[in-house]
Amino acid sequence: MSKKVRIGNTDLVVNPIGLGANAIGGHNLYNGIDEQLNRELLRTAINEGLDYIDTAFTYGMGRSEEIIGEVVNEMGNRQGLTIATKGTQRIVDGERVIDNSPAYLRETVDASLKRLQTDYIDLFYIHYPDENTPKYEAVGALKELKDSGKIRAIGVSNFSPEQLKEANQDGYVDVLQGHYNLLNRQAETDYFPYTIANNISFVPYFPFASGLLAGKYTKDTTFDDFRKNMPHLQGEAFEQNLAKVEKLRVIANDKQTEVSNLVLAWYLAQDAIDTVIPGAKTPKQVIRNLKTLELQLTPAEMETIGRIFS
Ligand code: NAP
Repeated sequence: MSKKVRIGNTDLVVNPIGLGANAIGGHNLYNGIDEQLNRELLRTAINEGLDYIDTAFTYGMGRSEEIIGEVVNEMGNRQGLTIATKGTQRIVDGERVIDNSPAYLRETVDASLKRLQTDYIDLFYIHYPDENTPKYEAVGALKELKDSGKIRAIGVSNFSPEQLKEANQDGYVDVLQGHYNLLNRQAETDYFPYTIANNISFVPYFPFASGLLAGKYTKDTTFDDFRKNMPHLQGEAFEQNLAKVEKLRVIANDKQTEVSNLVLAWYLAQDAIDTVIPGAKTPKQVIRNLKTLELQLTPAEMETIGRIFS
């Protein structure tokens, strides 16, 4: 099934179910990353109609971008894909330093282009705000890169509401990527009124709350990566969250779908959101997530799901 959406005001038109690629080459984030499986996942995803990939320099410190570049080059369909990446963490004396200066943004975009084996990036995000650079100046540098054709759209991520407004003072911000899922709905009040009013598309990260909302964890599930420190996956909070997921499962069963699809469809029905970028570890998960396109939620179902997590 194919259904395309435009990302905000940009000229990027994509399958709304993208791929969050922090597990592609993300050796610094997850244990046991298998690059052969990563490549197989990408090939399967693209063959199944996924055309929108979200990566970043920090996913494997360039490795995610390199693997994506290799597979896209091998498949020969760069034109058919929308690739989003992010930069701003530079390595100085072995330490990560966040840098939004125009000079560094130009440098990091060039480095991403090389790793991705392409001459344009569809959507480039400032991954994190730094402390010193005026946000409109950083975005102004991206506007120049857009005018030169190196990037096609401008994104910011992890910006506070005030930083977003400053960044968008000239109206150049196309996309905001921020933490949002059924367990963390702060963005609905903090960002959505502004992003909707200013035609900025909101891309939620952690749509499955790092896997919990995909519906397969039980109280006996344990984590051996960055998830072991996440409060919503520990102790009593974890059990309470699992109970909410069970309520979703009743609705999913009724609709003959999976919890993961129900959750993604709920996000896509929000006015503020055009696309989602669930992370996936296996080709099977990607194929499953793409099935969200077959799902339609009624207003009553939307409300019930929202109420479970209100
Ligand atoms: P997520 O999408 O909330 O959860 C991903 C996890 O969900 C996978 O690792 C997998 O867990 C599970 N999963 C996915 N599809 C599934 C399916 N169909 N059935 C069962 N389980 C499924 O978390 P995320 O990957 O960290 O975040 C999504 C994307 O957002 C990232 O890949 C990245 O591109 C972006 N991101 C951006 C920022 C930022 O600062 N801008 C921060 C974080 C993330 P298992 O490991 O248990 O299989």
